[in-house]
Amino acid sequence: MQTVTLNNRIQMPILGFGVYQIPPDRTEQAVADALAAGYRLLDTAAAYGNEEAVGRAIHAAGIPRGELFVTTKLWVQDAPAQDNTRRALETSLTKLGLDHVDLYLMHQPYGDVYGQWRAMEAANREGLAKAIGVANFYPDRLVDLVLNNEIAPAVNQIETHPFFQRTTDHDLMREHGVQHQSWGGFAEGRNDLFTHPVLSGIGKAHDKSAAQVVLRWLIQRDIVTIPKSVSPERMAQNFDVFDFELTDEQMAQIAGLDTGASLFFDHRDPEMVARLGKHRVDG
Ligand code: NAP
Repeated sequence: MQTVTLNNRIQMPILGFGVYQIPPDRTEQAVADALAAGYRLLDTAAAYGNEEAVGRAIHAAGIPRGELFVTTKLWVQDAPAQDNTRRALETSLTKLGLDHVDLYLMHQPYGDVYGQWRAMEAANREGLAKAIGVANFYPDRLVDLVLNNEIAPAVNQIETHPFFQRTTDHDLMREHGVQHQSWGGFAEGRNDLFTHPVLSGIGKAHDKSAAQVVLRWLIQRDIVTIPKSVSPERMAQNFDVFDFELTDEQMAQIAGLDTGASLFFDHRDPEMVARLGKHRVDG
């Protein structure tokens, strides 16, 4: 598996498996299928409600821990954020049945971000999280976090797909040594992504699907991607993206699809800040 090297020298697979919106009672099977298909990077979150099922699948698969890269995410904590962050990580580790995660992400740029981050730094130093990072940080908040803390985020996981390409964010993250990771790489199928004429047309030239073209495009931009699927056939298809290369012209064609806007919501929208910022996840 192709990897990227994070700013603390840890290797992260460039392609993994996301479990958002997989119901807890279907997650164990989905993760078992994904591991059987060859995925080694798993992306879950306290807020997804399926960490226990992910943990069960990991243990049943019997794959050596060192070969897996497991990510989970911290939900927004009430004060005192440092104590609560520590407790939240311990709860996630217990649910996963692991003594460490490979990457712990702050799920939202809300609440006492700096208190949360300092607890994540402490967990990183103790080895409970081999790397720490953030999600959904726009450039202004990301730069502030980088400049005002000892440990810079290793990763920023943000909405990134052909219709919202994040080129400015990407360049800024690269400048600060923060790895760009895509969520919603398929835009969850919005804008008819899976049958889009430009993506399908490029796919035809390589005997690949539009989905495979999108994953290849992300990989060629050095962006870590974590497609979600509950179908073993689509998991296998999404994993089969290392035997072809998009040309500069095809990359440019896809660049032309960028609208520069989210297809979901803007994390800087005060209504969303209030809605997500007030939501609590039970430990
Ligand atoms: P996504 O990967 O963009 O899209 C998933 C959808 O695509 C599902 O409906 C899936 O259906 C379908 N699909 C997958 N492969 C396909 C293929 N080859 N052909 C046709 N359809 C296909 O959506 P996502 O789950 O939102 O994003 C991926 C991961 O990013 C998540 O699972 C999660 O781990 C992470 N994420 C993080 C955040 C954050 O705030 N940090 C937010 C959202 C997501 P089937 O399952 O039926 O195949």
